[in-house]
Amino acid sequence: MSDIKETKSKFVKVRCPKCKNEQIIFGNSSTKVKCLVCGKELAEPSGGKSKIKSRILEVLE
Ligand SMILES: [Zn+2]
Repeated sequence: MSDIKETKSKFVKVRCPKCKNEQIIFGNSSTKVKCLVCGKELAEPSGGKSKIKSRILEVLE
């Protein structure tokens, strides 16, 4: 039950709020990350780290 909205972690597993697809994304991507299934924006760059716009299921080390 994480409520992290921003992270510097390398990889996070998120769930798309639209189609429920689970996807592992890079935690400090410098580009927008979209859901591979429906194209919903899951994260956007925010000052060197990612602002996660979807639910974080797990933070991977
Ligand atoms: Zn989706």
